[in-house]
Amino acid sequence: IAMLKIENLHASVAGKQILKGLSLQVQPGQVHAVMGPNGAGKSTLGNILAGREGYEVTEGSVSYQGRDLLELAPEERAAAGVFLAFQYPVEIPGVNNTYFLRAALNAQRKVRGESELDSMQFLKLVREKLAVLHLKDELLHRGVNEGFSGGEKKRNEIFQLAVLEPKLAILDETDSGLDIDALKNVAEGVNALRSPERAFLVITHYQRLLDYIKPDVVHVLADGRIVESGGPELALELEAHGYAWLKDRVAPEK
Ligand code: ADP
Ligand code: MG
Ligand code: MG
Repeated sequence: IAMLKIENLHASVAGKQILKGLSLQVQPGQVHAVMGPNGAGKSTLGNILAGREGYEVTEGSVSYQGRDLLELAPEERAAAGVFLAFQYPVEIPGVNNTYFLRAALNAQRKVRGESELDSMQFLKLVREKLAVLHLKDELLHRGVNEGFSGGEKKRNEIFQLAVLEPKLAILDETDSGLDIDALKNVAEGVNALRSPERAFLVITHYQRLLDYIKPDVVHVLADGRIVESGGPELALELEAHGYAWLKDRVAPEK
């Protein structure tokens, strides 16, 4: 049974139709890459799955672990294991990164009816995760987003992922703006967190991240629909031929 089953999803933003009949199924343990040109609707898809505001689903369905995902509030989705790395809108100097993350984890545990972790328990968890990711603890003591470089922000996303232990992790352009070493770091983190129970939706415009994160399935999203799906070789073909190569394949609108 699919962990995530998206059928004929249509959605609009600010009155503009963005998703136009998108269908996609993800099994536990799989890594799916969603590639596509700018403006195709990749981020829209991630945001809709996470329940971000401002998107209107006009048709279609999304089932997650057998439940109607679209009926759930964003915090219920997070508590059920759907993760979209949160971009902190602003720097919050003085508010410790670890403190913020513990609050996020405890909020999710509360929705699940689990006890909250005290600071000692949380610190233990954090130490375990840092070891899994081969990270130093320098991120912990920083203020939220305070002076983070692009690479540090992305590493922090992976750290959030490790601590929150989602079942469905959505990474949107986690590779953008990273140099090759930072890219490898992020990929190693993702690979360390792959497990039979966890699925990843890796959204990326470029193929290069997929040199390091080997996807099970690659989808091309163009003009609001999946126009092609295949194995890792599809990403390489795209890299070689560019998105124009797929233009002829965009199915007529439903
Ligand atoms: P991608 O991530 O594939 O580059 P997006 O999902 O970000 O594409 O955007 C798809 C389309 O929706 C683009 O044409 C973009 O301009 C438009 N769009 C996204 N968010 C908004 C918004 N908040 N208001 C208006 N248009 C938006
Ligand atoms: Mg974009
Ligand atoms: Mg995007």
